[in-house]
Amino acid sequence: EVADRITALEPLVGAFLHLDVQGALNQARAIDALSDDERQQMPLAGVPVAVKDNMTTMDMPTTAASKILEGFMAPYNATVVNRLKAAGAIIVGKTNMDEFAMGSSTEHSAYQLTHNPWDLSRVPGGSSGGSAAAVAARMVPIALGSDTGGSIRQPASYCGVTGLKPSYGRVSRYGLIAYASSLDQIGPLARSVDDVALLYDIIAGYDPLDATSIRAETARVSEGPVDWKGLRVGVPKEYLSADLGGVVAQRLQDVITQLEAQGASVLEVSLPHTAYAIATYYLIAPAEASSNLSRFDGVRYGYRASGADLLEMYENTRAQGFGPEVKRRILLGTHALSAGYYDAYYLKAQKVRTLIRQDFEQAFALVDVILTPTTPDVAFRFGEKSSDPLQMYLSDVYTVTANLAGIPAISTPAGLADGLPVGIQWLGPVMGEDRLLQVARGFE
Ligand code: GLN
Repeated sequence: EVADRITALEPLVGAFLHLDVQGALNQARAIDALSDDERQQMPLAGVPVAVKDNMTTMDMPTTAASKILEGFMAPYNATVVNRLKAAGAIIVGKTNMDEFAMGSSTEHSAYQLTHNPWDLSRVPGGSSGGSAAAVAARMVPIALGSDTGGSIRQPASYCGVTGLKPSYGRVSRYGLIAYASSLDQIGPLARSVDDVALLYDIIAGYDPLDATSIRAETARVSEGPVDWKGLRVGVPKEYLSADLGGVVAQRLQDVITQLEAQGASVLEVSLPHTAYAIATYYLIAPAEASSNLSRFDGVRYGYRASGADLLEMYENTRAQGFGPEVKRRILLGTHALSAGYYDAYYLKAQKVRTLIRQDFEQAFALVDVILTPTTPDVAFRFGEKSSDPLQMYLSDVYTVTANLAGIPAISTPAGLADGLPVGIQWLGPVMGEDRLLQVARGFE
């Protein structure tokens, strides 16, 4: 059934860069052939899942939607991929994304556009646009994305599905092609908080192969009902700024009204350094990216151009292999890190990052969870922002702070506006996934 749906819808949506329906059917048969006891050990036995194409898979190409990795076959699986397989999941394919996860619309893929299943003339969001669209089109029930500044939550919001960015260090980044290593996290996308929680339970946990992985037990997400009367929800006043579109503000207000009706106390909180979040993020993320992408030199991976000597080969490979947005980020990043500018840009950004983290620590002393819009507006049309990078960057205003602070954040659907999905975002304190998921589910 899944195979038929994918075959029918994929030509319209374009969610996958690589698809192996036959391989998936073979794996499903293999799982069918197992004994009941063996299947009982597998919480995802036979469940089809889509994986963003920046996570390595030994049996499918991994390109991060870049020409520079065209046809690249990784010699090892990402830890999350091994965990999925051990749980009995069937990886049906690798999903489209902005090249190296840099973007908010999936338009920066070097290969193809992905269309929003709600309106094919609009973007699915990004950079995990393929994963969000595949779940929204009901091609797969669950998918993995990665989130550096909103890349799980923003496409989840635009496609009307649920997406979680876990606390930094919760999910192993081993085998995730690095964009900005201090911000990147892998997380689940699904149609319900329950399914997100199920997938999160499988991928989260300590991994010795990732030096930033946290050695802590992941509490199983509790099933119990939420004590609404004892819940304090903070709404940051800085997020209700001029950027916020009217339709989204209206949906958020509806949610607040419902929360109050349940008996929760909704309080205004302040995150005073919010205004600097985008500038801080767009210094730190490109700085780290410029360093991480230096490994793509035509020698170690994928594509290699010709050249009279080694240096020319490097230059040609990178000139031909990287797309314009990736080059822009490398320029931004190397500039921010260069000797004369390091203190003014990179060091300053790191200091503001600390202030942003402290904003959240102070707010979480007063409230249990924070409620915000996920994005200022609903899904935009193709081309609307791709010619103006700054406009594209601004669609991340409400999401980048969670990555800068390392805290968990989930986007869940909050109804429609003009026929298009609107998302709301719940934020929790570091390692507070359990409570966060419980509240998000209670509200669903
Ligand atoms: N849109 C943001 C960027 O381009 C976030 C991307 C992401 O989270 N990977 O950097």
